[in-house]
Amino acid sequence: ARKIVITQHFQGAPKLSDFKLVEETLPALQDGEILCKAEWLTVDPYMRAASARLQAGDQMPGAQVAKVLKSRCADFPEGSQVVGNFGWRDLTVTKVPPKEKRGFDSLHAMPEMKGLPDSYALGCLGMPGNTAYFGLTRICEPKAGQTLVVSSAAGAVGSLVGQIGKIYNCQVIGYAGTDDKIQWLKSLGFDHAVNYKTTELPKTLKQYAPQGVDCYFDNVGGEFAFHVTRAMNPFGRIALCGAISSYNNDPRKPNLVPVDYVSMIYKNIRQEGFVVTRFAKDWFAGINQMRDWILEGKLKIEETKTIGFENMPQAFIELLEGKNTGKVVIQA
Ligand code: NDP
Repeated sequence: ARKIVITQHFQGAPKLSDFKLVEETLPALQDGEILCKAEWLTVDPYMRAASARLQAGDQMPGAQVAKVLKSRCADFPEGSQVVGNFGWRDLTVTKVPPKEKRGFDSLHAMPEMKGLPDSYALGCLGMPGNTAYFGLTRICEPKAGQTLVVSSAAGAVGSLVGQIGKIYNCQVIGYAGTDDKIQWLKSLGFDHAVNYKTTELPKTLKQYAPQGVDCYFDNVGGEFAFHVTRAMNPFGRIALCGAISSYNNDPRKPNLVPVDYVSMIYKNIRQEGFVVTRFAKDWFAGINQMRDWILEGKLKIEETKTIGFENMPQAFIELLEGKNTGKVVIQA
């Protein structure tokens, strides 16, 4: 089997030399185990933050869609597909957890895809999809006619958040980092899409949200929320989903960002962090809802594909550089 490990802790942005592909021999299959072959793998921003807990030589973490090559577990026969948190590796021998412990964070059967591409199980019909769905509906609580702002809007999560916002009949303003992404967001039905690299946030908020902002889905952290808070209406809601603007910073030196306390207090603004795992109980209800919206044509899905397991480090580096539109997936 091949796996990708880190050779050292990343300093700032990850580099190709921080990764190494190593071969290992797999153990013989025991009762209750399956041998799986990766078909689709994923790179996600959380891996940059999670890497702080890794040591040199540790495998990178992450989910994959895999085919069962050999099985000694009746629930997952040869030829079936699983979604497993096996990390960056092509072949895996794993013990199947008992039924009650199978889930999105360990191993489970593929969701019912109804003809949609398998790779979607790592994006819109997987962890990022549920992050968008539950983060928006449960934390931002959007109402028809309200204004929703989303950052990293052309990414896997952000592009879904904005489109779900439209399903909820919100006025949606997305921020992203290239003009191509801006054009794409407009084609998805975002009311306004703004390149945050070439504009000033307070000015564009005044221009595109003169009625005030009700919901902010924060994928980037940093000062962004400070400015949005100032443009917010009373009882606004901010979902703290990600902080990609600081993931490359040294975790021992936290990024200090301003908070507009007066706005927060006097406007009764709620700012709430969340990890998608908190919605475990309703996980597959979320996936099914996302799938139905896709099949009804209400959500458009974009993927940035890399071919070849060995190219995962490059795909990861490019994700953090903002080269992706929609979800990054790797075909093994
Ligand atoms: P994306 O597909 O959005 O990819 C990352 C994007 O981030 C890049 O394309 C880039 O787009 C943008 N970006 C990179 N650096 C910066 C920066 N310094 N400032 C602003 N934007 C930047 O990734 P995901 O959709 O998978 O994840 C989005 C966020 O959601 C991440 O922060 C992630 O950690 C978080 N997340 C949180 C979860 C939770 O449970 N709380 C679960 C899943 C994801 P651009 O060109 O626009 O700059």
